[in-house]
Amino acid sequence: MQSSQIYLSRSAFSHNIALFRKLIGPKSKFTAVVKSNAYGHGLLATASIALDAGADYLGVNSLEEALSIRRVFSKATILIMGSIPHLKERVAELADENFWVMVSRIEEMELLAKLSPTPKIHLKVDTGMSRLGIPHQNAEVIAKEIAEKKLPLTGIATHFASTEDFTEHSHSMLQLGNFQDTIDTFAKHGFIDLICHCASSASAMLFSEARMDLVRVGISLYGLWPSLETKLSLSLMKKDVGMLKPALTWKTQIQHIQNLNPGTFVGYGSTFKTTHETRLAVVPVGYYEGLDRKLSNHGYMLVHGERAKILGRICMNMTMLDITHIPDAKIGDDVVIIGKSGNEMISADDHATWTGTINYEVVTKILGSFPRIIED
Ligand SMILES: *Cc1c(COP(=O)(O)O)cnc(C)c1O
Repeated sequence: MQSSQIYLSRSAFSHNIALFRKLIGPKSKFTAVVKSNAYGHGLLATASIALDAGADYLGVNSLEEALSIRRVFSKATILIMGSIPHLKERVAELADENFWVMVSRIEEMELLAKLSPTPKIHLKVDTGMSRLGIPHQNAEVIAKEIAEKKLPLTGIATHFASTEDFTEHSHSMLQLGNFQDTIDTFAKHGFIDLICHCASSASAMLFSEARMDLVRVGISLYGLWPSLETKLSLSLMKKDVGMLKPALTWKTQIQHIQNLNPGTFVGYGSTFKTTHETRLAVVPVGYYEGLDRKLSNHGYMLVHGERAKILGRICMNMTMLDITHIPDAKIGDDVVIIGKSGNEMISADDHATWTGTINYEVVTKILGSFPRIIED
């Protein structure tokens, strides 16, 4: 048994995918975004569950992720969303007719077009995020060049910069307008049935116009909200998309217990000092395993359905907990880091609030080398 166990709930994934299916209708396809080790949930375990649950396509960031999936799932359609470093040297590895590769430059299209089988080429358009993609202002010139060079283009895509961050969506609407104009420009140059896509979790939930031919759903596939603002926006718009179900549970076990006298220091830097007799538990999880060090003296884990406060600094591989109020707790008992215990629950959002980040970062940081255990 490992020092941590990461459980994935198949039924939670199915529930979240069904929720999006209902939302997006039959015309739009569902891309399960499994980049970055499936947001820490485990790449292959998640890919397998998502495909079983009826995801149409898988979305990844890197060529490496696409190749890992390909070794196991020979037929899956894989959308590679990130730019591929050293493309020239690695291009041969992309010869796969079920790879959909998002590119930002014509040189990249030319490299891919030479392959056999030819992967599907999707052009990224920068409509207001200033990250990747052709500038939407250059759509006319670029559409013309692609048409003249007879490059095979099958899709066109963009990405929103701030749908998650605000309840006011003028920037997203501006981007959507720019994207629609770009699609029209390409249509004028003969690209009439491109696969068009722009929506991630938040925009798929919020804007029906953004769902287009496929949605690229990451965070909400895992049962997490893109942000509180997304939830708030939906309620302001009087839209009810339903409940998401978190798919991941992170558990460990008590490794050691000590009784401390009042006035005893705990951990590196002696940042905590007991004020009363304290029963302290040590768990074998620290920042190496993916716990944010900002949880030091801040934040909780669950023992026997009760919150146990983190005492002192998070160590590299260990954390100390106050279990004074949980007298039955003993060595070997389960400790829930993320998930439910009795009537209590600690979510990735709680961790994000405690550490000043977003739920995306919390789950993505969970150590990748623990096996992911699939439950029903
Ligand atoms: C990560 C990513 C997504 C998924 O975003 P979520 O907010 O997690 O749903 C969609 N599209 C692109 C291009 C991405 O990089």
